[in-house]
Amino acid sequence: RRSSVAALLASQELDREVLVKGWVRTRRGNKFVQFIAVNDGSTINSIQVVANAETFPEEKLKADGVENGAAVAIRGTLVASQGKGQTVEIQATDIEVYGSADTTTYPLQKKGHTLEFLREIAHLRPRTNTFGAVLRLRHALAFAVHQYFNDNGFFYVHTPIITGSDAEGAGQMFRVTTLPEQNPPLNEAGQVDYSQDFFGKATNLTVSGQLEGEIAAMALGKVYTFGPTFRAENSNTARHLAEFWMIEPEMAFFDLQDNMDLAEDFLKYLVRYALEKCQDDLKFLTEHYDKELLGRLQFVVENDFQRLTYTEAIEILKSAKQKFEFPVDWGTDLQSEHERYLVEKHFKKPVILTNYPKEVKSFYMKLDEDGRTVAAMDVLFPGIGEIIGGSQREENLEKLQQRMQEMHVPEEDLWWYLDLRRFGSAPHAGFGLGFERLVLFVTGMANIRDVIPFPRFPRSAEF
Ligand code: ATP
Ligand code: MG
Ligand code: MG
Ligand code: MG
Repeated sequence: RRSSVAALLASQELDREVLVKGWVRTRRGNKFVQFIAVNDGSTINSIQVVANAETFPEEKLKADGVENGAAVAIRGTLVASQGKGQTVEIQATDIEVYGSADTTTYPLQKKGHTLEFLREIAHLRPRTNTFGAVLRLRHALAFAVHQYFNDNGFFYVHTPIITGSDAEGAGQMFRVTTLPEQNPPLNEAGQVDYSQDFFGKATNLTVSGQLEGEIAAMALGKVYTFGPTFRAENSNTARHLAEFWMIEPEMAFFDLQDNMDLAEDFLKYLVRYALEKCQDDLKFLTEHYDKELLGRLQFVVENDFQRLTYTEAIEILKSAKQKFEFPVDWGTDLQSEHERYLVEKHFKKPVILTNYPKEVKSFYMKLDEDGRTVAAMDVLFPGIGEIIGGSQREENLEKLQQRMQEMHVPEEDLWWYLDLRRFGSAPHAGFGLGFERLVLFVTGMANIRDVIPFPRFPRSAEF
């Protein structure tokens, strides 16, 4: 008997009794008629409820608490609407209030709060149009991730959240411990003795599921992880969170070329999916935040990404007229200002950069024949910079051990990783897509803290 607002707004079946439950977004009107906008989260649009003053005088509505934020059940007749921007409305016969919201203290009384203010009330911000849109898009994109991989023969594997290897994220790991804060056991060197900790060794929250993902790829062929990822990022940027979600496919018998093809096809699929399934939310975000959003999404879906090597990119950056804060030269890692110059100013399209100097990339990437670069790829997006980082992995045991030595990665931590090269090693490749960077791109929001329900960044764990 109960209908969602989305279903009612799409309904052709008029002059019937309906029941809808949701929250009051606005109430306005005069002494003859009152208009109540009700939203239930099923769509960004609210349905207009018309309350006739004979049955529902304004004083009674006020006394009952039919005000912004109140949770209500509305019974009435679904009728055609004269109002602009809506085809149907409900002529109310009964209004029940579950919980009212005090008009003097409810923070979402007035429209047009800043995003910064809304971050401070993360428990209420999902009730705004903006965050409703962001959360529905997050859902749609997460669903599309699983859909894409399932349709393409990938298996979803769960990699650990707590890990004992700290090979990758030197300095960026969150320690997991049950040792007492006061007077923890110390070893002979006077350092905390983690051999007495819960797992018998130091453990951390994962910074990437890749190494464990490779284990699964070496048995199931094509796999992906999609899980929470933790990095103690000490910089306060609009692109980094301390807790984010990462999508990491890993494929046996894929080389760098296959990896790039997959990344491009995958990203286009995800953006196309959002364009198809989230039209109302994208229209709202385009109108309110970023006039170019829809056009940009369409462009990404329809055009090939530009592919070039790091070395070629350095040449372009060195001859650029633009002054960069960080100078570039062969061998330096690119900063987001360089990435965005290539994407937004030079090529004016998404870019895939490959074959970075081995010094700026991780130990596990496959060494190129020149011995100087590795089979890395970064996908760079407008407004974002790096959205994907990936590579073909080094499958040769001796070369991998050599790289680990150069990068000071201790072999004892990764004996199991080396076993993958000892027994049935195969060429393989994969990448990591930061889910929030994807949501940032698709929603057109400017700050990554505004595309995750509970953003984690330095000094921010209120919720
Ligand atoms: P960046 O250069 O932006 O710091 P990264 O090279 O350190 O990124 P990778 O280790 O390559 O990141 O991780 C793969 C992907 O995860 C990145 O391309 C990005 O989309 C995402 N990512 C990395 N760090 C963060 C973070 N702190 N918050 C949100 N997403 C992140
Ligand atoms: Mg980083
Ligand atoms: Mg990077
Ligand atoms: Mg990277």
